[in-house]
Amino acid sequence: MIKVTIWHEFMQDGAWAQEDVLKHYPQGIHKYLESFLKDEFSVTTVTQFDKEGNLIDNAGITQELLDNTDVMIWWGHCKHGDVPDEAVKMVADEVRKGMGIIFLHSAHHSKPFKALMGTTCNLHWREDNDYERIWVIDPSHPIAQGLGEYIYLDAEETYGEPFGIPEPDKLVFVGGYEGGEVFRSGCCWRRENGKIFYFQPGHESIPTYHNKEIQLVIKNAINWCYSEYRAKELSCPHVTKPQD
Ligand code: ZN
Repeated sequence: MIKVTIWHEFMQDGAWAQEDVLKHYPQGIHKYLESFLKDEFSVTTVTQFDKEGNLIDNAGITQELLDNTDVMIWWGHCKHGDVPDEAVKMVADEVRKGMGIIFLHSAHHSKPFKALMGTTCNLHWREDNDYERIWVIDPSHPIAQGLGEYIYLDAEETYGEPFGIPEPDKLVFVGGYEGGEVFRSGCCWRRENGKIFYFQPGHESIPTYHNKEIQLVIKNAINWCYSEYRAKELSCPHVTKPQD
């Protein structure tokens, strides 16, 4: 089984106990993601904060955890700035070695995503509960398998272009909203040995992760991000000239 680690901020559905989030995710977004992934993957969850709102040491990131993670899923929103730089470096380096990573929704502004992209990752946004159609623009891509022409969501937070990212290696989905905005909703990159997928839907006060097609995309993305290869270290070793 592919080993998946779900990393979750756990503040709005944790210590802050926001009703508009808890009504969709009473145990937290991480536990909901785990509930539909655990039959197909070996799932671990870690959080940035504990239930009382105390920052967990190094935001829950240890080398042992990374050594036991094939693909990481990252959901953060309000507390990106409190993720220690040491944790960010460890996660980004692990991706460079070959760990896959999926950044969901507001993780567009997380420190590991920005570190791996090297850009601002800024976007336009508004919360009007517009409907969204997530158009499949590459139906042959592994992440799009099992979907129709588009995924329809009754409501989502609107994310709009320009999105301050480097050109994706592959664009799989483009979101279109009631207000006419468009957004690069499903983007793939490689950074050295690791695969990265950014997936836009998943605003905390909307039950987007209950949607079966959204769940299918996340499962497909785990399989796509997985790699058997993991570099032992990141270095520039001195080598001797091969002998004939
Ligand atoms: Zn949001």
